[in-house]
Amino acid sequence: MKNICVYCGSSSGRRPEYSYAARSLAKALTSRGIGLVYGGASVGIMGEIADAVLASGGEVIGVIPQALADKEVAHEGLTGLKVVGSMHERKQVMMDLSDGFIALPGGLGTQEELFEVLTWAQLGLHTKPCGLLNVEGYYDKLCAFLNHAVGEQFVKTHHREMLLVENSPEKLLTLMETY
Ligand code: AMP
Repeated sequence: MKNICVYCGSSSGRRPEYSYAARSLAKALTSRGIGLVYGGASVGIMGEIADAVLASGGEVIGVIPQALADKEVAHEGLTGLKVVGSMHERKQVMMDLSDGFIALPGGLGTQEELFEVLTWAQLGLHTKPCGLLNVEGYYDKLCAFLNHAVGEQFVKTHHREMLLVENSPEKLLTLMETY
């Protein structure tokens, strides 16, 4: 894998562990020679992971809509920053540039992005791996809900299994590389 897209919060969250996890995923990516594609902001977990990849000598491409560039404070020091016209274009460009997708802890935007990429996998529009880094159990209830959705027969087991869930960046990347 050449590039992985990471979806994560534009906030830092309540616990420092979320930022530690972003930095440890950054190191794991760089040590495998994998570049980061992300939403291009300098704030929250988004800023943490971009700074950490750059600090460890890796490459970072940010993709941000013009309207958000000021609000989320576009990161000035990236390997490349693509300013696009809309949120939809942002997600398409991020998807096209990436060989796999990981969600770190984040809010509504992070979840929307993760579910879009998963539904595209479900439809067979791509075959790239989708991973969830479940830091400090942040996504336990989401995983329980997905299992409930399988039990209630709204989600097929093989579609649920498309979401690879791990709490260690190294384990998650190994799973994704062999997907
Ligand atoms: P959040 O997880 O809400 O902090 O947002 C993380 C990233 O998702 C930020 O870059 C937001 O701009 C982005 N985002 C928020 N809402 C949406 C949306 N509806 N579609 C795509 N991206 C979004």
